[in-house]
Amino acid sequence: MPTPLSKNPDLAPLPAPAPDETVARLRAAFAAGRTRPLSWRKAQLRSLRALLTERQTEFAAALHADLGKSATEARLTETGFVVHEIDHTLRHLDRWLRPRRVPVPLSLAPARARTVREPLGTVLIISPWNYPSMLALAPLVGALAAGNCAVIKPSELAPATSALLAELLPRALDPEAVAVVEGGVPETTALLEQHFDHIFYTGNGTVGRVVMAAAARRLTPVTLELGGKSPAVVEPGADLATAARRIAWGKFLNAGQSCTAPDYVLAIGEAADGIERHLTDAIREMYGTEPSASADYGRVVNGRHFDRLLGLLDGDGGGRLVTGGEHDRATRYLAPTVLADVDPDAPVMREEIFGPILPIVRVPDLDAAIAFITARDKPLALYGFTASRHSKRRLAAETSSGALAFGVPNAHLTVPGLPFGGVGESGLGRYHGAHSLDTFSHTKAVLDKPLLLDPLRVVYPPHTPWKDRLLRRIL
Ligand code: NAD
Repeated sequence: MPTPLSKNPDLAPLPAPAPDETVARLRAAFAAGRTRPLSWRKAQLRSLRALLTERQTEFAAALHADLGKSATEARLTETGFVVHEIDHTLRHLDRWLRPRRVPVPLSLAPARARTVREPLGTVLIISPWNYPSMLALAPLVGALAAGNCAVIKPSELAPATSALLAELLPRALDPEAVAVVEGGVPETTALLEQHFDHIFYTGNGTVGRVVMAAAARRLTPVTLELGGKSPAVVEPGADLATAARRIAWGKFLNAGQSCTAPDYVLAIGEAADGIERHLTDAIREMYGTEPSASADYGRVVNGRHFDRLLGLLDGDGGGRLVTGGEHDRATRYLAPTVLADVDPDAPVMREEIFGPILPIVRVPDLDAAIAFITARDKPLALYGFTASRHSKRRLAAETSSGALAFGVPNAHLTVPGLPFGGVGESGLGRYHGAHSLDTFSHTKAVLDKPLLLDPLRVVYPPHTPWKDRLLRRIL
């Protein structure tokens, strides 16, 4: 009797290799020198670029399935972003990798000194669900450019994108050097038990601590790209209509689920009334009077986050509803929502919102705004909307944040020369462009002193008075 299809061992999907086998395979490839040649690195980057442009439609479909992203948003903030990162890297990689000569002190002459970058080995990239392809692939660009093998662990909360990455990456890239391991907490925990040479984690700080504790067992260096409450300070003299449009765009992009989204508005004095009105207009301009019908408005990732957001909306001290609040659990729709006169101690002000709710907190002046910010965890980004150079200088000098941007949220990510990363509770380490190369390689010090002459004899024992006199002159 023929074996039923589902029982035919030849046709059943192959079981995923165990994490230790995957990591051992990659480590062997690294040890064999497979990833070191510059030609290999560039070929991988070009293949990744081709994949992202040729399979753009499939990425857009997966991102729509996971987060309701529009095709334009998917291209701009996910695949297109990574393509730009690859182009920038390919343009500058030769220069970034060039050894750098450094001067040698006279006392050591003749000698030459230089720094060289060497790859770290096999790295682990753990990514979250909110930009599920960009946050897996942008670090991968740096890891490959620096000549590493990489294991990618996409978020299980964006299952369509995770499956697509698992299907396409091993075909487009060298499967001996790049692997995708899908799964949630058990799979990530099993991976964290393996030996990696760097762990690059993007997500929340609670899991960040789990990652760092696991890494500490082998002294593995970590990058932690975390989140937090990024404030948008708005001063009365600023162009409030433009400020509101940009804040609304930065906040409600991806239904507020962006790590750099303005979390709340700190409105100074009378700016509070103006920004409230202009935010309502901006939301209507972008998403219409019925945002649920807009093809450009995303959805909350899952029921758990949806319930969490509704809990924040209903919390005490949540202020006055200016616009939004409509919701539908079945479709995970939560309208772009603005709250005014919010109590600084309200639940919505206690944790990162990470959804389409924008509280406005009123403060009397810039001193109070700065005091408000510095009394809390250092944010991933701080945004200032002001016409005053003096206020800009004060915000720069008197606050600390991963990034500081005036006039526009989120856009600092797209400047390839700027490092991206947090400080304090918002993260550890940085990447993008040349900064990714710093993260994923070791800068090795190399000193080369010829053996022909040996003036160093003056420092060798025995330390006679004449040697000592000479040493005092040169050292
Ligand atoms: P998530 O739930 O997808 O978790 C991130 C990753 O950690 C996933 O791959 C997941 O499988 C893994 N994980 C979850 N629990 C784990 C555990 N107990 N042990 C080991 N691994 C575990 O994403 P998230 O944390 O909800 O992401 C949202 C947070 O990430 C927000 O705080 C946001 O601000 C932050 N974020 C930061 C950046 C940045 O670049 N700085 C970018 C995006 C998101």
